[in-house]
Amino acid sequence: MPKATSCKLDNRIVGIEDALLLRGGAAKWRRPVPKFRCRECNELVRPHKKGTTGQAAHFEHRTRSPGCSQSA
Ligand SMILES: [Zn+2]
Repeated sequence: MPKATSCKLDNRIVGIEDALLLRGGAAKWRRPVPKFRCRECNELVRPHKKGTTGQAAHFEHRTRSPGCSQSA
């Protein structure tokens, strides 16, 4: 299953590293988390850091999106 490493934020494309920084900044300043959306299906996605088991940083859909190739 492909893992998304970029998403849409407003009308921009942001990479996973930028998204993690934005989310971290939002938490630090108690701001709303930016609304990251899947480039393919436009559903909300959440950035995940690199895992301890070697899984690369990626975006996951908040709710499963049938028909989207980026949704696990
Ligand atoms: Zn999607």
